[in-house]
Amino acid sequence: MIWWLLGAALLAGCCIWIVMRQPHKRRNSKVVKLSTVRGKAGQPSRQPCSLCKKKAARLSFYASEQGQVVGLCDACKPQAERRGLLQL
Ligand SMILES: [Zn+2]
Repeated sequence: MIWWLLGAALLAGCCIWIVMRQPHKRRNSKVVKLSTVRGKAGQPSRQPCSLCKKKAARLSFYASEQGQVVGLCDACKPQAERRGLLQL
């Protein structure tokens, strides 16, 4: 169990490191831009949670193991923390 967590954390760290190093090369459409996810500033839009798909007024954003940005509702936040995802 501890090794699985360490592995997941390491993988997430590597993904983020690669993304940070190559900000222009990895601009593919699968990567969700934070500005798009968050919507217009000052306008709280109800976005669906990436895990349970329920709409939440407030999402917390994490970098997944694949280097993608996921928005999680308060109910799913503990899952992300258990997976060792990095909060953005
Ligand atoms: Zn959720």
